[in-house]
Amino acid sequence: MQKTLVMKFGGTSVGSADALANAVQIIRDAKKDWDRVVVVTSAMSGVTNLLLDSAASASQGKVDSLPAAESTLREKHFAAADVLIKDEQLREQAKAEINALILSLVDLCKAIAVLGEASPRAMDAVASLGERLSVRLLAAVANDAGIRAKGIESTEFIITNAHYQSAHPDFKATTEKTRGILNPLMDEGIIPITTGFIGATPEGAITTLGRGGSDYSAAIIGSVLPADDVWIWTDVDGVMTTDPRIVKDAKTLPEISYSEIAELAYYGAKVLHPKTIRPVVDAGIGLRICNTFNPSHPGTRLTANSKSNGKVNGQVVKAVTAIRKQRLVTIEGRGMLGVPGVAARAFGAVASTRTSVPLITQASSEQSICFAVPSETAPSVLEALQKTFAHEIEDEDIDRVWSTDDVSIVTVVGAGMRHTPGVAGKVFSQLGNNGVNVLAIAQGSSEVSISLVVDAMDTENAVKTLHKLIVQ
Ligand code: ASP
Ligand code: MG
Repeated sequence: MQKTLVMKFGGTSVGSADALANAVQIIRDAKKDWDRVVVVTSAMSGVTNLLLDSAASASQGKVDSLPAAESTLREKHFAAADVLIKDEQLREQAKAEINALILSLVDLCKAIAVLGEASPRAMDAVASLGERLSVRLLAAVANDAGIRAKGIESTEFIITNAHYQSAHPDFKATTEKTRGILNPLMDEGIIPITTGFIGATPEGAITTLGRGGSDYSAAIIGSVLPADDVWIWTDVDGVMTTDPRIVKDAKTLPEISYSEIAELAYYGAKVLHPKTIRPVVDAGIGLRICNTFNPSHPGTRLTANSKSNGKVNGQVVKAVTAIRKQRLVTIEGRGMLGVPGVAARAFGAVASTRTSVPLITQASSEQSICFAVPSETAPSVLEALQKTFAHEIEDEDIDRVWSTDDVSIVTVVGAGMRHTPGVAGKVFSQLGNNGVNVLAIAQGSSEVSISLVVDAMDTENAVKTLHKLIVQ
């Protein structure tokens, strides 16, 4: 059986000449161990933001920053091409293609400025340029280094619906096209190097899969081929037990289960795009996160949820994360007891402000509902709630709708907690003994995590002290 590997390089992994040189070495090494290799690339770091900012300014009629954006893009890509591509013809060809794409950014932005508006479709056309630029660079650099590789845009085989900026793939059409285009190349020993993040509708309009979507692209390609493994190359050694800026001896986890990382992704560990997991789990494909800047490190392996019940070496608590800048909103009043529909109306009001809610708690007394929202959304959330419950507030069935100052949600993750009584107790005594006051608690019924709300001031202390529960 031929073994197939899909490798995705993130923005920093292709963000400079040095990074690209590492990436090319990694590709070369992979070809020694795998019969078939597909490479998926992100845009060079910072490029997607720059593109989207340019389009946003253009939509307000502002095009004065375009020349600066143009030269930044040219410099970034050309500098790497000049250092890494020795063959003059290859280099000039790549630079000409890159230049043409940069000029098309200028055209698109000017058109947006004339219209005075950027449709989601236009935004995707602009955003797609980052990967379309980097794929040409990486393919040329790989070819120059003697690797048989071919750059291809994934718009040719990732077929999506027309939900611009967050398009959903049509797996049937994508399977057929991906196999049809990539397999013949791989049969010839050629490594396809393709764009992450983007696809196209059946009519050929460019779509994007959502910010950070290159991970998802790799998962889609891996699942439809199918591949044996998908490796996500990034700029950290893998998933860590916590933020190393808070706890110096934070460690890389050798393994984490899909359900555990899902909790982490949700709580702000930005290692993996959440949509990446589903296609690879469904297809039973291995997933690994590794560091372009430290390639000999084994990184983190994602494991199926059932394996060792999530416990590794008896480890119950695996990771601690914090999301900052949240506020707790409370709706309280005795008149809420036993009245159906209060929660539904409350969350309806929150939804109308397009705010998503990371944590909810309600005590069985039903005298208050409490949930967290990002701090900057709190004023509009409160306003919406006051409007929705105007009658109840007037009749004093609801006494108060209010929010706290900034708080943090600290989450302790570990699938082993499910089978180990007393973890919650340990968590709370650990915090209590260290003088951290807990404002609210939520535990998902999956028992894979416990989340606590603490005062913003207590964040670091809470994370440090809970990190001690991880047996190292
Ligand atoms: N370049 C895209 C972004 O910045 C996709 C990715 O890097 O995953 O969102
Ligand atoms: Mg990413």
